[in-house]
Amino acid sequence: MHVNDSHDFATRAIHAGQSPDPSTGAIMTPIYQTSTFVQKSPGKIVGEYDYSRAANPTRAALEANLASLEGARHGLCFSSGVAATGAVLHLLSSGDRVLLGDDVYGGTNRLFHRVFAQLGIETTLVDMTDLDAVKRAIDDRVKLIWLETPTNPTLKIADIEAVGGIAKAHGIVLAVDNTFATPYLQNPLALGADIVCHSTTKYIGGHSDSIGGALLTNSDELHQKLKFIQLSEGAVPGIMECFLLLRSTKTLHVRMQRHCENAMAIAEHLDRHPMVERVIYPGLASHPQHELAKKQMPGFGGMITIYLKGGLEESRTMLENTKLFACAESLGGVESLIEHPAIMTHASVPAEHRKVLGIDDNLIRLSVGIESVDDLKADLDHAIAAATRACGSACGCAG
Ligand SMILES: *Cc1c(COP(=O)(O)O)cnc(C)c1O
Repeated sequence: MHVNDSHDFATRAIHAGQSPDPSTGAIMTPIYQTSTFVQKSPGKIVGEYDYSRAANPTRAALEANLASLEGARHGLCFSSGVAATGAVLHLLSSGDRVLLGDDVYGGTNRLFHRVFAQLGIETTLVDMTDLDAVKRAIDDRVKLIWLETPTNPTLKIADIEAVGGIAKAHGIVLAVDNTFATPYLQNPLALGADIVCHSTTKYIGGHSDSIGGALLTNSDELHQKLKFIQLSEGAVPGIMECFLLLRSTKTLHVRMQRHCENAMAIAEHLDRHPMVERVIYPGLASHPQHELAKKQMPGFGGMITIYLKGGLEESRTMLENTKLFACAESLGGVESLIEHPAIMTHASVPAEHRKVLGIDDNLIRLSVGIESVDDLKADLDHAIAAATRACGSACGCAG
């Protein structure tokens, strides 16, 4: 199958990096569950492979597939999203500084502040939606800017092109964690980023059944360095995981379309709900960066954040009463999830910093799945009604 950049996303999702097995005609890429490859004579390998930490045909197909979806020349896969993030950090040396988005994924924050800080790499948190703040934070020691957009859980949108311009002017590498948007909704490399990072655990995997990460780049130099780190540190994915992800990317476009449709409908529904104080969704005109989101993304994704009227008790009651939305961390699967960041995903963020970010006790995050949207709305309505009954009139809300 010869697929190239001129083919549409849907065609590349299904075919890129893959072709029928020449020896049997098997249409699916085989699971090359092997650690090593025999050699004809010492040092003379049969094909392209000698040892699966260095490279493996199933993984190579996945790496080529993901690279194609991000419009990248190169792709590398890792055993998790944080392993991919760590590989980028290993590009740095002691004394270097990083500007990190102020509400990046908690595990990213922990890796920068508690692991790489010990190696002499200094991290400064910056609100990436404030371009002046980004410029002010730059000095000669800054070698990397790392941002997420949309962010988690407040769904702030950073202007990748603008931050990319600032980074380029100062010779700084810009890495964008594109996990929330996926390559279907956003291609940071085309907007000026140097490296794209994914937790494939989320939408790319899409079925809540694997942990993985990926890095994509157009720079031969960055690729060579990152590939050396991948080989040397060995945080590579298992072969079965690679096969599962190749299966997942074939439906990424279809899943994302439905995630976007369902999330938009639910955001509008909750926006009208008397018990919901505020809905944050980049597709709503009320979102502070709605215009930028429209410019940067053809759709707005499956994540919604709401502020429920009331406090911790009402929020807890809502989470205890959904039947379709499962109360769990993670996101991006076909099934809907609901979680309470202050107690769950963002519990390790100090309370004062949570306040600055707006992660209050009545903030609830939804990962809208691809079930029937009517069933999902009814499930949320039922849970919110239960929360209202529980609250009585003590909190002063409409209930
Ligand atoms: C989950 C997540 C990660 C970390 O990925 P793992 O696969 O859990 O290691 C990084 N960034 C974002 C935005 C995430 O949601």
